Amino acid sequence: MNTSSVAIIGSGFAGLSAASILAKAGYDVTVYEKNDQAGGRARVWSKDGFRFDMGPSWYWMPDVFENFFHLFGKKSSDFYELKRLDPSYRVYWGANDFTDVPAHMSKLKQLFEELEPGASEGLDNFLKQAEYKYQTGMGDFVFRPSHSITEYIDLKLISASFRLQLFTSLRNHARSYFKHPKIIEILEFPVLFLGGTAATTPALYSLMNYADLALGTWYPMGGMNEIVKAMVSIAHEQGVKFRLNTEVRKIRVSNGIASGLETDSGFIPADLIISNADYHHTDQVLLESQYRGYSSAYWNTRTLSPSSLLFYIGINKKLKDIPHHSLFFDEDFNKHSDEIYNRPQWPEKPLFYVCCASKTDPSVAPEGGENLFFLIPVAPGLEDTEEIRERYFKLLVDRFETVTGETIKDAVVVKRSYAIKDFVEDYHSFKGNAYGLANTLLQTAFLKPKLRSRKVKNLFYAGQLTIPGPGVPPAIISGQVAAEEAMKVLRL
Ligand SMILES: Cc1cc2nc3c(=O)[nH]c(=O)nc-3n(C[C@H](O)[C@H](O)[C@H](O)COP(=O)(O)OP(=O)(O)OC[C@H]3O[C@@H](n4cnc5c(N)ncnc54)[C@H](O)[C@@H]3O)c2cc1C
Repeated sequence: MNTSSVAIIGSGFAGLSAASILAKAGYDVTVYEKNDQAGGRARVWSKDGFRFDMGPSWYWMPDVFENFFHLFGKKSSDFYELKRLDPSYRVYWGANDFTDVPAHMSKLKQLFEELEPGASEGLDNFLKQAEYKYQTGMGDFVFRPSHSITEYIDLKLISASFRLQLFTSLRNHARSYFKHPKIIEILEFPVLFLGGTAATTPALYSLMNYADLALGTWYPMGGMNEIVKAMVSIAHEQGVKFRLNTEVRKIRVSNGIASGLETDSGFIPADLIISNADYHHTDQVLLESQYRGYSSAYWNTRTLSPSSLLFYIGINKKLKDIPHHSLFFDEDFNKHSDEIYNRPQWPEKPLFYVCCASKTDPSVAPEGGENLFFLIPVAPGLEDTEEIRERYFKLLVDRFETVTGETIKDAVVVKRSYAIKDFVEDYHSFKGNAYGLANTLLQTAFLKPKLRSRKVKNLFYAGQLTIPGPGVPPAIISGQVAAEEAMKVLRL
């Protein structure tokens, strides 16, 4: 074993992936996590026979998971059974008016054609471009450490950047293919929910549409936390040690070299540190001012992805016709997005999302019950009180009942809300962001907060606020890239 010791702050997907890669290379790796469970935003909460995934619920880009498992001679089926959902999801446009987005391409084309004559051919062309972006973006771009612009100055990438459409907005791009508002909303929703408006997100991110419409929406039986369990089990196998309930209070640095971590149970020496905690927290709180990479003004001018108001709801009855994933787009899409990004305030008539995982997986609710997860994307940094949450709970339940024709009000047996204050308290999240930074052009690749500390030689960052960005697959990749870059320093 290499005797160098590596301390990882935080056990989110990026921390877990970095830990296993470094341990496999022979380093002595320990993960320090403030909470009592590993997984970061993908923790679980259980009550009275209901088991809720607290954060992510969409399993997209299955190839990224397989590639990670493959590094350790494993595959996802060694840990969990993956099911492709069909329909991938439902979009409600109003009472008794909905579209099921089918998993099969021929049915999807039929649906587009019904909505807009000629759109099935448009879909072919749109997805062909999106596939190119996915292959180039996910195969090359995302694995670049993005220390500087020079990594992007090669002929292949310069010519690719035009095809990748870095300088066109997703909004214009989608509208150049389609006119029907329902089609446009289906294509724009992934960026709204994962941080950004279609107007400010580069058309590069139509790669997300390829992930959605072509690669499909999957579900790991047992829930999204099964991915965390799989990654923890790989980490254990590689010899990674875990210290849960251990909050890091400071990173000790002298002469530009970190010597270890200060925790409540004392000082822990380390040769190298990777922080998977929210970047802003590490930079502004864990480091002394002379070692911070960015100013508070820098942080205050970042465009954050939304926070969320969440409700974990257990009901003691079965719902007749609710699919696994439902998007409620029965109100004005642009108004809500304006209330998140341009004029931050609690939304007047929010769009929202409901996950009913018990429709696919009976293990997440007691027999005869359903497991419901409600999510409203909201601007980060808003005032967050019980009264506000309760007002939105009533609004959500009323809208859900009116639009679906199913009643749930009298069947609620478990209820917990989760919002901005909880993100700050549980994860030290900057302004309570749920998914890091928005995917704007000025926050892409080498313009994101750097993976390698600018002032501390042996400190690296991994996770959704650095490259490549928000989401479970990018977080896994972020940990991989950070580990590879860190090893270059360890080998010096
Ligand atoms: C509600 C919600 C829904 C989402 N839906 C999806 C989805 O459907 N699909 C998808 O792909 N993505 C989704 N995402 C995004 C995805 O979950 C995240 O991008 C990803 O999990 C972030 O992983 P991470 O490695 O950056 O770290 P995090 O999960 O943020 O983990 C960081 C860890 O660091 C720990 N930490 C912080 N400070 C300290 C400290 N001082 N000492 C010790 N430990 C510390 C925290 O406790 C935490 O465990 C969702 C996120 C949320 C919140």
